[in-house]
Amino acid sequence: MAFRAPLTHHHTDDTLCPADHKHTSSGKPLAADCPGRSYTKAVCSCGWELKDRGKGYVNECRRRHLADHAKGPEVLRDLLRLDAP
Ligand SMILES: [Zn+2]
Ligand SMILES: [Zn+2]
Repeated sequence: MAFRAPLTHHHTDDTLCPADHKHTSSGKPLAADCPGRSYTKAVCSCGWELKDRGKGYVNECRRRHLADHAKGPEVLRDLLRLDAP
């Protein structure tokens, strides 16, 4: 079973900030109805979840968490070996 942990962005009132809410490189919202991103959240299909203001931090923890799952089933281990010589 493959696990997935998609990243989502949220406003201060916990509503989803969808991908079509564009932001400037400094984080200012460009969509008229967007109050700005407050935090990023990752929820894994195993039930694990993490939320933090730092998008990079959440993404890093998420990848580390998914790597832990990958250590499990042999099928996934084989997939990871594809880039080996
Ligand atoms: Zn938004
Ligand atoms: Zn998980």
